[in-house]
Amino acid sequence: MNVHLTFDIEIWCNGWAHLDQEFASCYPRYVYGHSQHGDYALPKTLEILNRYGLPGVFFVEPLFSAKFGASYLEEIVRLIDDAGQETQLHLHPEWTDEIRPAIIADVSGKRQHLTYYTQDEQTALIRHAKALLENALGKPVSAFRAGSYALNEETFTALANNGITVDSSINPCYAISAPELVRQHGAVAPFMVNGVAAYPVSVFGDGFGRQRPAQVGACSFGEMRQALESARDAGYSDFVIVSHNFEMLKPGRADPDFVVVRRFERLCHYLAANKSQYSVGGFGNHADIQPSSGKSRLPRTGMLSTTWRIAEQLVRRGLS
Ligand SMILES: [Zn+2]
Repeated sequence: MNVHLTFDIEIWCNGWAHLDQEFASCYPRYVYGHSQHGDYALPKTLEILNRYGLPGVFFVEPLFSAKFGASYLEEIVRLIDDAGQETQLHLHPEWTDEIRPAIIADVSGKRQHLTYYTQDEQTALIRHAKALLENALGKPVSAFRAGSYALNEETFTALANNGITVDSSINPCYAISAPELVRQHGAVAPFMVNGVAAYPVSVFGDGFGRQRPAQVGACSFGEMRQALESARDAGYSDFVIVSHNFEMLKPGRADPDFVVVRRFERLCHYLAANKSQYSVGGFGNHADIQPSSGKSRLPRTGMLSTTWRIAEQLVRRGLS
């Protein structure tokens, strides 16, 4: 089974009211996460992956740099590229109305989701963001993840218009995430939409039967391992895991959350120790994607690993 370790890399400024004041402290937190224990944002993420010899895919949000300057984006992609890891495109349209000159005609208000834009507007936003990222990186990108997993069928046309061949935005845990395509194709296998290969974020049924995304910060290591085993045993071709640049940090701070650090370490150790079963990598060859069967039996995990995650959450709340 192909396993894709993906990371959404983005900068936030504690709301939109004081962007310039907040950016000075938010940028180093989101990019580095300096603390007395080490730098647990991007540097530690890259270090752990490389220590286990695992390739990740880093979806980097570039629109923020149209507000603050290209050098900030270059610093991020240099960290990723120098570590030998792959940079691809992430996009949060919330930045659109903060950028001058405007990228599209209507920037009269903040529109959070890509689905709130016309197909032509989506094409223009993706074109602009892709150019920013490719200029910083010095090479082309070919894969995409939409901010907040919000996309629709028109997004796939906008991606195709921009020469992007892979999308990994669909997350069936989110109602805004192409629900009609999930109904049509299911979300356990890759499928083609308007010439673009869609690799949904993997979702599993937890010990209480609830759907959860395969996200490092949102499930216990036991749940992640059982979801991987369950998908592998069911014969799935691909499994997409999500994390973020700030996922190993405590909320609003630069100190590491060692519960999440340990989960990520254990996940990487497990994948590295089982390379005969899991092929960890990017979204390389999608010429052999079959028309989807529409089947959607999700990977499952047991009660014990879910109970463990809930216990971990209680401990994290107590310690933070
Ligand atoms: Zn994002």
